[in-house]
Parts: sequence; structure tokens; C-alpha cells
Amino acid sequence: MTKILSVFSFLVLFSTLLLVVSAQQCGTTTPTNTVQWSLVGSTRVLNTNGCPPFDWSDQKTPNLAYPHTTSVTFPVTPEISTTPTSYLGLYLDKAKTTTNPMVPLGPIGYSRYGLLLYGNSDALFRDAYVYEGASFGKCGGHNDGQNNYHYHSVPNPTSAVTCVDYLESTTTHSPLIGLMLDGVPLFGPNGDGGVPPTNLDQCNGHTDTTYNFYHYHAQPNLQYPYLINCLMGCLTTSSGHLTNLGCTPSTTKYDYTPLNALLGITSVAASSSVAVATSSVAASVSAPVTVYASVPASVPASVPASVPATASSMISTARSSNMLAPVSSVMQTVPMFIPTR
Ligand SMILES: [Zn+2]
Repeated sequence: MTKILSVFSFLVLFSTLLLVVSAQQCGTTTPTNTVQWSLVGSTRVLNTNGCPPFDWSDQKTPNLAYPHTTSVTFPVTPEISTTPTSYLGLYLDKAKTTTNPMVPLGPIGYSRYGLLLYGNSDALFRDAYVYEGASFGKCGGHNDGQNNYHYHSVPNPTSAVTCVDYLESTTTHSPLIGLMLDGVPLFGPNGDGGVPPTNLDQCNGHTDTTYNFYHYHAQPNLQYPYLINCLMGCLTTSSGHLTNLGCTPSTTKYDYTPLNALLGITSVAASSSVAVATSSVAASVSAPVTVYASVPASVPASVPASVPATASSMISTARSSNMLAPVSSVMQTVPMFIPTR
């Protein structure tokens, strides 16, 4: 009898554990995304649980999406440097001629729905889009070994009704994808008039008529570097896993006030200087237009481990005498080295 009881209590305990674990998973048919943007003094704060606002269950890694509640701080008014402050990808240049000796792993930004944006490297320093694209779901992302849903490239606008994170038009400037860790906003690949800009700098940034503040564009047609190549915004301590090459402030200053509305921050309290926006999932574009190639159908059979060689003493020097404090809410929840990305 005692044995039966203990088996029974074990089963109860086990099923309770299963219930607890399964209850934590991000929702699929009923998404459980929570995201909140707010202004606190000179900082812009993102609070997110990292769960997609759509059904992520069609992504093809064996990993799941679990909530990772985190708070990330960005400057409200990013200061732009005259030279890149950090390189984000496998190469120092968009033409892929010089390898980046210090490829950062982990987040390089966050979508407006609080989902992680990763660089173009997988954990083995290979092109993540080429080697992992086949595992992306319909919305363009997948889960890593820590069960974080994330993107390596432009969130897929072809399933706009359910993906909601990104909608595209051929007549107007691309919508906001999110913020990079320097606080500079990232838009889709199209500039004024719905065509890819021709005046992007080496990082993929510019200003245009639609948005007269320095901003990034994702690379058109899902070409390398997919999102952006480097940061031009001066870095703060909220980006401790990035190499900080230092900042030479540009004399040109920008007004980032329009970014509040793009993030859903509709009212800024004058007295408290704290504004709060909650996650309203807007899907107002009626006829999204696909402008991208499809993801690779299969992962290449051979797997070259092309770990970038030392190519830039500038980066190495900056890394060894890193002026960044390794304190980051990002790093508390997202490890630098992620087994399966
Ligand atoms: Zn633009």
C-alpha cells in the first residue's frame, strides 16, 4: 500500500511538474507576447517576455520558445559617431572581404514586439541565414538552445496577418522593425517611396525624407548582412558583449521624438517624464507585398568551420582594453555563447 501510495504521489508530482513546465512555454495558437516601451528620463526602456505575438510552432529547430522576462535600456536620443562603434557580423564590410575578428554572439537589437535580433553568425561562426535558414518558421525566426525566439534576418512580411511584426509596402518607407543596442531604430529594406535607398553608409544607416533622423535599413533581398553591418550609435553599458570601438560624436544631432509614436508611446507625461506604451498588435496594412527571396530550402551538406581570423588590430585592442562595463540586463538573460542558434 505504501508503495502504491508513493508511486501515486510520484505520478502526481511528475504530472504537476509537467504542467508547470508546459505552462511556461510561449503560447502558440494563443500568443502570450507581453511588451512595454517606456521613457524614463534620458533612457528608453523595453520590458518584454520575449514571446512571439504569433504562432511560432512551425519553426523547425528542436527548441521551444519560452518566456525570458527582461528589461533593456536604450538612450532616448542616440548620439551618432563619425565612425562605426561596433561591428556586428562575420565581416567588417558588406562586401565580405575582411573577416571580423570579434564576432559578437547574442542580441544586437530587439524588435518592437520585444523579440531578439541576432547577428548573421551562428554559434560556429558560419552564416546563420545560409546554415540555419531552413529552420526558420513562416515569420522568419526560430528558437535557440536557450529557448529564445529570435531573428537573424528581416522578419518575414509574407505572413503579415499572423506574424504582425513586420509589414511591407512598395510605395512607402518600410515600417519599424525595432531598435539596435545603440538605440538607433532599424527599418525594413525600403526607404522613401518604397524603394531600397542608395545612400546607405557602411553600417546600413542614413537619413531620408520620411525619417529625418539617422536610422538603419535591413539589407534588401535578404542579402548579407541581412540586418545591418555595424553600429554608428555611441554605446552605453547596455551592450556589454559588443566590442566598443569608442565614439567620435558627430556634429550633426538628430531629433528622435518621432520614434515614440512608432513604438506606441503616445503620451509623454510632462511632469514625471515617464511614458508607457503597452503592446498593441497593429496589422493595418491591407495588402503586404513580398519583396524577398525565399529562405534556403535545405542546409548545405558540408559544414566549413570558418572561424574569422585576426584581421583588425583595432578591434582586438578595443576588446582587450574594453571600456564597457560587463553589466547588462541583456546578458543576465541571454548568454553570450548559445549552443544552438
Ligand atoms: Zn530610411
